[in-house]
Amino acid sequence: MNRRVRSRTTVCAAGALALLAAVTGCTSGGDSGAASAALVPASGSPTSGSPTSAAPSRSAGPSPTASPAGGAPAAGDAAAWAKWHLTPLPPAPPAPADKPVKLARTGPVPVFSEVKTPDKVVFVTIDDGAEKDPRFVEMLTDLKVPVSMFLTRDIVKDDYGYFKRLQALGNHVHNHTVDHAQMSKVPPEKQKSEICDAQAALTQQYGTPPLLFRPPYGDGANTPALNTAVQQCGPRAVVLWRESMQIHDMQYQAADKKLRAGDIVLAHFRGPKDLKGETMTQMFGELLARIQEQGFAVARLEDYIEAPAA
Ligand SMILES: [Zn+2]
Repeated sequence: MNRRVRSRTTVCAAGALALLAAVTGCTSGGDSGAASAALVPASGSPTSGSPTSAAPSRSAGPSPTASPAGGAPAAGDAAAWAKWHLTPLPPAPPAPADKPVKLARTGPVPVFSEVKTPDKVVFVTIDDGAEKDPRFVEMLTDLKVPVSMFLTRDIVKDDYGYFKRLQALGNHVHNHTVDHAQMSKVPPEKQKSEICDAQAALTQQYGTPPLLFRPPYGDGANTPALNTAVQQCGPRAVVLWRESMQIHDMQYQAADKKLRAGDIVLAHFRGPKDLKGETMTQMFGELLARIQEQGFAVARLEDYIEAPAA
């Protein structure tokens, strides 16, 4: 599969998880630093993209547009959304032919937390891999909401198969280190092994080398050491985020607490023990509801990225 990407701005954000106050590079305030990253021009060829559509709304109530057809849910199928007590999201527009992010095969990798696009879409990314709830596979199968997975090897290695089921739905797997190390706190060689060893394992398991890398907590994203390590291991961009999903709502970096076109949203594979009793599907339903309320569609991040020519 190819993708090409072009990237843009960088923001350092600390998500909800643990963020360490120590995170370097991130501005204080928990999550909003912002830095601009350089775009890397890339030559690229058109890549195939698939439009995706999805959109939900409230997570707890009956849904407005329900159609009684009971058949297998298709994208945008109101009955499928109703099953999850959600209002359908607007369908995502077709993937852009000219990808807003174009990645180069060599050289420094860009760091970005949003994609420049006029489309009223946001991108959902899900990290780590601790919770492996079968109901979430069912949910994505029904709703066809695209997600990008940033997996931590040692958190997923007891069940790589779970994520293969999500991958089979068209979702891509990316690199999120071996054991969730705080990158700025470890030496360059360790940063390299964190990325390269995860890259090797994920490539072996999922059949394709991860194109993107996300450092735990967003830490060290803009440091030369991290950039060098990423270049040595294969990913061609460092992806951060603009919003991070908590349990019922998102934590925004924007002061007005509103989504903007092209924002990358961070969520995690988490279950009741980390969500105060809520399940992964409840949390994800709430995320979709927050996105639906603001009128956004969820598009596939990889459809907006042009991967380096092979
Ligand atoms: Zn993480």
